[in-house]
Amino acid sequence: MSQENQNILSASEWMTKLYHHLLRYTKDGKEGYQYFKERGIADETIDAFQLGFAPNIKDFTAEFLTKKGFHQQLLVKAGLLSVNEDNTADDRFRGRVIFPIRNHLGKTVAFGGRTVANQEPKYLNSPESELFQKGKLLYNFDLAKKHIRKQSEAVLFEGYMDVISAYQAGVKNAVATLGTSLTEAQAQLLRRYVDTVIICYDADAAGTEAAYKASVTLQKAGCHVKIANLQENMDPDDYISEYGSETFRREVIQSSLTFTSFYMRYLKKDFNLSLEADRIQYIENVLEYIATIDSPVEREYYLNEISQAYHVSMESLQQEIQVHREKMG
Ligand code: ATP
Ligand code: MN
Ligand code: MN
Ligand code: MN
Repeated sequence: MSQENQNILSASEWMTKLYHHLLRYTKDGKEGYQYFKERGIADETIDAFQLGFAPNIKDFTAEFLTKKGFHQQLLVKAGLLSVNEDNTADDRFRGRVIFPIRNHLGKTVAFGGRTVANQEPKYLNSPESELFQKGKLLYNFDLAKKHIRKQSEAVLFEGYMDVISAYQAGVKNAVATLGTSLTEAQAQLLRRYVDTVIICYDADAAGTEAAYKASVTLQKAGCHVKIANLQENMDPDDYISEYGSETFRREVIQSSLTFTSFYMRYLKKDFNLSLEADRIQYIENVLEYIATIDSPVEREYYLNEISQAYHVSMESLQQEIQVHREKMG
């Protein structure tokens, strides 16, 4: 690793410790501490994730780190400072709670900062760099790894708070993509450790669409995919706050849907199922997918659901499946 990158890691390590210390033990970080307390995060969890607080001071970082011998230019490169129009540089993270983003070896390579005062943007991240490539990294992979390996299963979330709440709720094989779509590299990384990935994205339109896309990417990489059973319009962290850890593990994670169940529901978005023509088209689309399933038992299981839900005989459904399968060769 270049000397410069080593220095960036060292600067990031100092700031991780300082932000965390501030939040945990000082008046200047109380706002951040209170924020996590209101969101139900225990001290133990705050420590495990090294959560911190960046005070609303323009030169807080430079003041601290230049005294330690770091050059301002390096702090800009590290993403800790951002450059103004007049070429001066100020702290990037101000008045935000801080989520250190650790690489897979546990070293902080970037930060996420969330406003505690409803400011825009809600989340602010360090810019990408040689050390921080969003598409190659999964948030919390370093802590989750041993649990992922042991269970041969990982649970994939959208955001920091989902991972942290899930971890606190006992779902320790939790990782996140940090709001961007799952990349092939991330899917391949997971595949090396797991058979199954449970996708637990927000149960809103955007989250559902992202879950579908992530499923495709994961399946291409050879992972078996399940979809967490989250109520509409909730995110995992909301759910845990409302219903508690045990219910989350039992009703959401352990009750995950098969990809096929999820997909049958997902396909409905393109149709108005109160219209006959749409209903038929929807069934056709579902059958096209079911035909690709290799197991005859699985096929029959889902056909049975369709048969009952839409009052179509199993014979005609089976016939249609045969046609599709012959075409597939
Ligand atoms: P919270 O519960 O704190 O409101 P969330 O995790 O539910 O946050 P979402 O809006 O669902 O927030 O976004 C999911 C993830 O996407 C966030 O954790 C963050 O990593 C990323 N994200 C969201 N908004 C932004 C943004 N404006 N800039 C960069 N990343 C973002
Ligand atoms: Mn969302
Ligand atoms: Mn969310
Ligand atoms: Mn949330």
